[in-house]
Amino acid sequence: MAWDFSTEPEFQEQLDWMRDFVREEIWPIETVFEELGQEGFERAIAPLREQVKERGLWAAHLPPDLGGQGFGQVKLGLMHEILGTSVFAPPVFGNAAPDSGNSEILAMAGTQDQKDQYLYPLLNGDLRSAFSMTEPESAGSDPTLLQTRAELQGDEWVINGHKWFSSNASVADFLIVMAVTDPDAQTYQRASMIIVPADTPGVTIVRDIATMEHPYEHYGRIGGHSEILYEDVRVPQEALLGARGAGFLIAQQRLGPGRIHHCMRWLGVSKRAFDMLCEYSLTRYAFGSKLAEKQTVQNWIAESAAQMQAARLMTLHAAWKMDKEGASAARQEIALIKFFGAGVMHDVIDRALQIHGSLGYSTDLPLEAMYRFARGARLYDGPDEVHRQSVARRILRGYDAPEDGVPSEHIPTRREAARERFAHLLDAVTSND
Ligand SMILES: Cc1cc2nc3c(=O)[nH]c(=O)nc-3n(C[C@H](O)[C@H](O)[C@H](O)COP(=O)(O)OP(=O)(O)OC[C@H]3O[C@@H](n4cnc5c(N)ncnc54)[C@H](O)[C@@H]3O)c2cc1C
Repeated sequence: MAWDFSTEPEFQEQLDWMRDFVREEIWPIETVFEELGQEGFERAIAPLREQVKERGLWAAHLPPDLGGQGFGQVKLGLMHEILGTSVFAPPVFGNAAPDSGNSEILAMAGTQDQKDQYLYPLLNGDLRSAFSMTEPESAGSDPTLLQTRAELQGDEWVINGHKWFSSNASVADFLIVMAVTDPDAQTYQRASMIIVPADTPGVTIVRDIATMEHPYEHYGRIGGHSEILYEDVRVPQEALLGARGAGFLIAQQRLGPGRIHHCMRWLGVSKRAFDMLCEYSLTRYAFGSKLAEKQTVQNWIAESAAQMQAARLMTLHAAWKMDKEGASAARQEIALIKFFGAGVMHDVIDRALQIHGSLGYSTDLPLEAMYRFARGARLYDGPDEVHRQSVARRILRGYDAPEDGVPSEHIPTRREAARERFAHLLDAVTSND
C-alpha cells in the first residue's frame, strides 16, 4: 500500500532553491514594477528566466517532448505553491496564466503547423496569448449561451462577437477564441476554438477593463483584462483548434489542470499573508499584552493554519488523482478545491489585514492588493456557486430518495424492524421478568 506524504530529496532540493530564488530575486521586483514599466520588467526578468532554464524548471507544466519537464500535477502543485507567492514569479518560470493553459490546449489539440507557429514560440516566451471566451451579454457561467459566431465561408472562418475579460489580450500576439460554429448541433457540441492573430483586421481591443485588482485603466500591460470586438474577422479554415464542435471538451481539459495550479498559487498567497499575521501578532502591543496573546488572534492563527492545511491536502489529492486517473476522473475534487481554496485565501488575507489595522488597509503593505486579488478568485474559472452546484450534483448521484418517503434513519421505523429481528431475544427478556 502506498500512502506517502513525503517529497523525494532531489525535488525537495529544487523546491528549496525555488523558495529562496522567488523571495530573493522576484519579490523585490514587486516594489518597483510601476517604475520599471512593462519593458523594464521584461529586461529585469530576462536573466532570471535563464537561471530557471538552467535549473530545468522552465515550462514545467508540459511533457519533455514539448520542452517541459513532465513533472505531473503533484510536483507542479508543490512548485506553484512557491510561485504563487508573487504574481511575477510564474512569468519567470514560463508557466503564467493564460499562456500555460493555452500551451496545454495547443499541445493537446494543435496540428503540427499550429504547434510550430504558436506553441513552440509561446513556450520560448517569444509570443503571448489570450483565451477569449467570456462575453458581456451572456452568462459566462453557462457557456451554452455563447453568442459569438464563426461561419465557414469558402475556406475562411468569419467571426463576429463581443468578448470581455480576455486576460492579457492587449499584449497578446494571438487569441484563442471560443465561438459557436454549429448552432444546430447538440448543446455541448456547438462551439469550437479558433486561433486568431491579434492583428487580424476586424479585431478591436476596445480597452483593458479597470477592475478591483487594477482599479485604474492601463492599456497594454500584462495582467490586463480586455474587452474585444470581433467584426467580420477572417482567418483561414486551418485556424480551427481541435475538432469542429469540440470547444467545450477542450476547454474542460484545459481548465482542470489550470484550476489546480490556481489553487496551489492561492496557497502561496495565503501563506505569505499568514506569515505577516503571525509576525505582526508578535510585534504589536495593546491592552497590556502583545496581540499574539489575545485569544481572538490565537483563534485566527489556528483557524488559518487548519484551513490552509485542509486546502493544501485537498489540492494535492486532486492533483494526485489527476496524475493517476486523468482530469475527467478528478472533476469533483477539482470543483471542491476551486471554491474552497478561493475561500481560504480570502479568509486568511482578511485576518492578516485586520490584525494590521490601518497599516493593513494601506498600500504600505501588500495585503490590500492581495485582498483585491483574492476576490477575483471566487469568480474566474467559474464562480463559487457553479462549482458548489457541480459538486452537489455529483454527490447526489450516489443517493436515492426512499421509496416510501420515510428517512432511512427514522428511528421508530428502524426500531420496529429491529424488534422483529430480535423478537426471540426480546421475548426471552420479557419472559425472564
Ligand atoms: C480576474 C478575471 C480574469 C478572467 N479571465 C478570463 C479570461 O482570460 N478569458 C475569459 O474568457 N474569461 C475570463 N474571465 C471571466 C470569467 O471566467 C467569468 O467572469 C466567469 O466565468 C463568470 O461569468 P460572468 O462574469 O458572465 O458571470 P455570470 O455567469 O453572469 O454569473 C454571475 C453570478 O451569478 C451567480 N450564478 C451563476 N450561475 C449560478 C448558479 N448555477 N447557481 C447560483 N448562482 C449562480 C454567481 O454568483 C455568479 O457570480 C475572467 C474573470 C476575472 C474576474
